[in-house]
Amino acid sequence: MADLEHAATSERADDSHRLLVDAEAAAGAEGEAILGLMRDLYPLPRSITGPGLRATLARLHRDIPLQLTEVPTGTRVFDWTIPPEWSISEAWLADETGRRVVDFADSNLHVLGYSAPVDTTLSLEELRPRLHSLPAWPDRVPFRSSYYHEDWGFCLADRVLQALKPGRYRAVIRSRLAPGSLTLAEHLHPGRTADEVLIFTHTCHPSLCNDNLSGIGVAARLAAFLRNRETRYSYRFLFAPATIGSIAWMALNEPQLARIRHGLVLGMLGDDRPLLYKASRAGNNEIDRAARVTLRSHHPDAGEAPYSPWGLDERQFATPGIRLPVGRLTRSPPGGRSEEHTSADDFSLVSGAALAGSWLTSLRILDVLERNGRYRNLQPKGEPQLGPRGLYRRGGGYYEAVPDAQLAVFWVLNQCDGEASLLDITERSGLFFGLVARAASDLQAAGLLAPA
Ligand code: ZN
Repeated sequence: MADLEHAATSERADDSHRLLVDAEAAAGAEGEAILGLMRDLYPLPRSITGPGLRATLARLHRDIPLQLTEVPTGTRVFDWTIPPEWSISEAWLADETGRRVVDFADSNLHVLGYSAPVDTTLSLEELRPRLHSLPAWPDRVPFRSSYYHEDWGFCLADRVLQALKPGRYRAVIRSRLAPGSLTLAEHLHPGRTADEVLIFTHTCHPSLCNDNLSGIGVAARLAAFLRNRETRYSYRFLFAPATIGSIAWMALNEPQLARIRHGLVLGMLGDDRPLLYKASRAGNNEIDRAARVTLRSHHPDAGEAPYSPWGLDERQFATPGIRLPVGRLTRSPPGGRSEEHTSADDFSLVSGAALAGSWLTSLRILDVLERNGRYRNLQPKGEPQLGPRGLYRRGGGYYEAVPDAQLAVFWVLNQCDGEASLLDITERSGLFFGLVARAASDLQAAGLLAPA
């Protein structure tokens, strides 16, 4: 019981568990590490297949070992078919003087993703249907793609488009659409049990920061942090292209899906909006409740969005034949924000502090899953005498500084009939989960509580 004598704030009591040990102190550095990773990944020409995606995974592999699965072109995955693999070396549009008015070398957003190869000369009017811009945001280059319908085109700022003079333009795209494969990457952190927590993030967007480099970075640094820690659950980090990637992974791993107890999609986590939790399809799974108590305690400004079958890959995991309990942690408000899928989603939109907060909150949610459980009060007839056991508030002691910690002891003793979980008690008491879990651990050490 010696640890009870240590003065501690409720925050620190919450961090006394091994998963969160040093996490708060590490968060600032992790935020910077995520930004550094994002800077390395930003220039790579990612897509749903191809060398840009593989180069991204190779960079992640330097921090966390990844197991790659190459799914060949033409493979049927549920109702979908893996498309040809796309690679690109250059793409530009030049006017009659040879001046390049749009060039993939300046930004990989300038070419329509999955553009077929082309080398042709057209009038501006003939070209216009292939030029994508955002008149409402004349300085932004949109991110557009055409994965499942062969096409080619360029994306450019509307201000540049409006300044193009009538005349003939040469359009060159040196790309290749050929049989190849789609690359899935997994990092498995083995726990004491084979029950898994799935952490998913999409990997297919080119030079865009919040969507999707922030999710990749937060997931990768979470995996790195867990590596040297003992956990109850096994953690499967899945890095895959949006939609077809999660569908392909589920199709290839269908017999193993039953191992997944909880899941979290991470995406759009680097901007300055408050954290937002999007509930799973059922809305009352343990992951939903763990996220709710975490946000309630640590982020009173955070919001919750109900499930909807639109958004990121949580909607694939929620389909009626799959129905995995997967929520999403994000900072993207419902309906998104105007910078999404445009060149304005750059490093000015994200900060190390926001990334650090997202990283720490994700870890806190996982910590609730790790520590939740059911217990039985071994002295259920009348309250047990706590004073002699060092569990009753004394002058100058631990509980005087943190009265909630004393309340947590009474709540745990009162509710632990073998049925209520620590999460149930947290919800009912309104206390921090960390205090409830700490009280359970102290009462167990005092011989007053046992796992149910
Ligand atoms: Zn997106």
